[in-house]
Amino acid sequence: TMLLITIDGPAGAGKTTVSKLLAEKLGYRYLDTGALYRAVAVAAQFAGVSAEDDQRLDQLCANLRIHMAADRLFLDGEDVTERLRSPEITMLASAVSARPVVRSALFGIQREIGRSAGVVAEGRDMGTVVFPEADVKFFLDASVRQRAQRRFGQYSDKGQSLAVIEKDIRRRDENDSQRDIAPLKPAADALTIDSSSMTAGQVVDLMMSHVLP
Ligand code: C5P
Repeated sequence: TMLLITIDGPAGAGKTTVSKLLAEKLGYRYLDTGALYRAVAVAAQFAGVSAEDDQRLDQLCANLRIHMAADRLFLDGEDVTERLRSPEITMLASAVSARPVVRSALFGIQREIGRSAGVVAEGRDMGTVVFPEADVKFFLDASVRQRAQRRFGQYSDKGQSLAVIEKDIRRRDENDSQRDIAPLKPAADALTIDSSSMTAGQVVDLMMSHVLP
């Protein structure tokens, strides 16, 4: 049987690494919903639309043509993958994701992809809002220090210090968990895994034992 699996959690908990590995192991499709919010942020930056301007955000989302293929993301036919992970886009994605017009615009795209046979969907509200009916739900957590350290390992070449990364993570955690719409929290039926002292491989093994008991 092909399942729908959700993995939610705060920034830097290792969701992307683990989701990709799990999807690969199972031969499932991997859905990176953070990339969709990041794409909206890139589009907003291109168009000079502020995260507070609901009317223009609504318009922007209505005309958005997002295409995800393998590890690339295309916006109106243009490959914007390299822009998605910059610190500016990261913070802007967090800001636009608090706007209901943006969340409802992306809801349909996510549901559409979720209909594929066998999906691992990664985000903040996969198990709570977008796919409440998912077969298996995980909430992946880790200490703030651990999460900052992992990001630092990935992005130190971009010149951000550990202290700045930790501050950004705390700010995003606060934005994501305190917003009115789809706040970050574990679904009632999610299994929470604290990955602070686990390798990605150990997390995936644990997840596999729940997916295929
Ligand atoms: O997961 P990632 O760091 O790429 O997500 C970028 C931002 O998009 C997050 O900080 C969060 O604000 C937002 N997001 C969200 N809901 C999701 C996925 C991401 O609000 N399902």
